[in-house]
Order: sequence, then structure tokens, then C-alpha cells
Amino acid sequence: MSKKKSKTGHEALGGNTKLVHMGRNPDAYFGLANLPVGRVSTIMYPSLEAYENPSHKFRYGRVGNPASEAFETAIAELEEGCNAITASSGLGAITTAILAFVKSGDHLLMCDGIYPPTRQFCDDTLRRMGVEVEYYDPLIGKGIEKRIRKNTTLIYMESPCSATFEVQDVPAIAAAAKKHGVMTMIDNSWSGGLLFKPIRHGVNVSVQSATKYIGGHSDLTMGVAVADTEKTYKTLKRGAVNIGAFASPDDLWLALRGLRTMAVRMKQNAQNAMVVAQWLEKQPEIKRVFYPPLKNDPSHKLWKRDFSGANGLLAILLKEAPKKAASDFVNGLELFPIGSSWGGYESLLQPQYLEKYRSAVPWTEKGACLRLQIGLEDPEDLIVDLEKGLERFRKACK
Ligand SMILES: *Cc1c(COP(=O)(O)O)cnc(C)c1O
Repeated sequence: MSKKKSKTGHEALGGNTKLVHMGRNPDAYFGLANLPVGRVSTIMYPSLEAYENPSHKFRYGRVGNPASEAFETAIAELEEGCNAITASSGLGAITTAILAFVKSGDHLLMCDGIYPPTRQFCDDTLRRMGVEVEYYDPLIGKGIEKRIRKNTTLIYMESPCSATFEVQDVPAIAAAAKKHGVMTMIDNSWSGGLLFKPIRHGVNVSVQSATKYIGGHSDLTMGVAVADTEKTYKTLKRGAVNIGAFASPDDLWLALRGLRTMAVRMKQNAQNAMVVAQWLEKQPEIKRVFYPPLKNDPSHKLWKRDFSGANGLLAILLKEAPKKAASDFVNGLELFPIGSSWGGYESLLQPQYLEKYRSAVPWTEKGACLRLQIGLEDPEDLIVDLEKGLERFRKACK
């Protein structure tokens, strides 16, 4: 447990207890259990003196309001950080955080297993601004030290990686970065801020898409970046204000509500995913299952060392087969609609095209890679659906 002082003094409590209590203050709102939604742009002042008083908590809706304060302090507490900023999407929080700390001429070390839109931001926007982006093998561990140059200012991680779920040795990478005065950031979306505590391991900024497990119901888009110290937070917040990063009070409210039940939802997602993953592992049509909680997953050991639990996100690699076989598998599924995002209550499938998104460790597999979000359905029903899919796959292979 972190020794850091949190704003609400809940630092001694466990994660589940924190999720219930953090970011709440019923006494301030007539005893309402939850914060009322405060839609806001203008904040009014009774006098010139009040307007000129710099100690005002809220000055303008975009810069800070009761909903952003409630969510940001809550998530900072969960992630054992100092404070946080929010943005209208996970990608918005990622780009806001990176832009707040890099400048032209900098060298950025970026994880090769990064969320593809983050990669596109690096290859397009950052390179256009004169930032040198170098992708590194997610499993590089302490070997990252050899990649650090004089102009390296930021090492960016994502653990587990998108689609293939390699777990990075975050403590080793953060330690190497610290030794050379290089800043670290991580995309912590997979853990929801609950299952892994990057800041405890020395990471400076932990970013996540609140769209996923925090939201949990596929009905909001929001992102958050948590800073380790007041100094980091000041730069992060200034960067956010400068580019107008902002989350709407309605989405903040939904995200706060999602936080309350995230732990139980994730636990069930993970339990269901394990049942499905263990079944998938035994199917001859499936070459590999990517899910760190499986004992056979190459990242199992690191996941067990650093994570306190799992979620429902996994991927499968189908055996190399004619295109029609993968199509027949996917198209006939009844409980796995094709869709982006994850972390909701429902199961989803998203095809992956990793040959386009890997450069440090090129993707050479020929079979179809499919990401599955295992939802809150009965896992037995999901297995029946997948089994029928594999029957169609076999038929198409003949
Ligand atoms: C979805 C996702 C994001 C982006 O989140 P949005 O809210 O959709 O912008 C960032 N990182 C990871 C790992 C994701 O899966």
C-alpha cells in the first residue's frame, strides 16, 4: 500500500474499499449518495476581488469543475498518484500527456506493442513536429538502458501490450529511465488502474482509456492521465489546459459511477475469460491463445509478479487457413459481434492486422488474429458459440 498522502486520506484502504468511497462527498450536496451532474461552462463571481483571487478552486468549466475534481482525485487515489487530468477520450489523454512533455529534437522510446492509434500519432503528428520516435521490443526489460540517448526524454510503455498482451518489465524499465533522468509513461488501460500500480513501480504518468473497464457499459468515451508528483502534475495540467483537453461532466459522472462496480465486473470478466481461454487452448484449430493469466502464456510469470488480477480481454491466433475459413468462423458467431473497444458487459470480437502495426518485432504469423472481449454472459454459452464457429472453420478448410 502506498505511503503517499491522498487528498481524501484513504491511503490505508484496499482497492475495493477505495473504489466505493473515493471521489464522494455526500455532505457537500445535501447528503446525496452520488455527486449531482453539474453541466458547466460559466462559473460566476460576486465581485472583482473574488474574480481576481487566484485561490479559486474552479474558474471555468473546461479548466476544472466539481465532476472533474471528483473523478480526477478518485483515480489519482486508485493509481497511488498525486493528481490527474481528464480528456474526452483515452487517445486524447495519451496525446495530451505526451505533448505536455516532449519537444522537437527529442528522442522518444515507444513500445512496439502500442495501441495502434497511439502509433499513428507518433508516426504522423510527433514526427512532423520533429520528435524522433524509436520503437522497442516490449520484452526488452532492463535492456532499454542501451537505447537511451543524450536526447531521450521519454520512454512510453503499454503493459500488457495491445492484442498480443506481452507484459513489460515495468519496474526494470522505470529504474533504467530514472538512472538516466528520463521520464516514463504507461498505457495502463488493461488494468483499469486497479490490477497494476505503475506509479508504485516508479512510472511518472499512468494513462488509461476510461472508455474501457471504468465505463464498463460501452456508453462513454473518456481518458485520464495520473501524475506521480505535484511537479509532474503541474506540467501535465498546463499541457492539458493549453490544448483544451476536457471531459464532459456527463461522461465524468458515468465514469465515476462505473468505478464503483469495476472491481466486481472485472473479476467476473476474468473468471469467464479463464473458462473460455482454457477451452480455446485445447482446440486444434487455434494455434495460440494470448492471455497472460494462462500458465502457458510467455508473460504469465511477469503478470503474476506485478498484477493483482485479470480482465476479460484475450486474443486467439487461428491456424493458417483459406480466408473463407476465418470469415465463416467470425460471421456465424451469435454472441461475439464485431466491434472496437472492450471492457463492456458484452462479448465482442475485433480482427487484428498486426503486420501493419509492428516494426521492432515484425509480425510474421499467417493465420487470423482475433481479439475477444469476454463479457458477463454465461461462459458455457460463449463456448457453444465458438465451438460452432470452429466447426464452420473446419468445414471451410476441407
Ligand atoms: C481503447 C484504447 C485506447 C483509447 O481509448 P479511447 O477512449 O477509445 O480513445 C488507448 N489505449 C488502449 C490500450 C486501448 O485499448
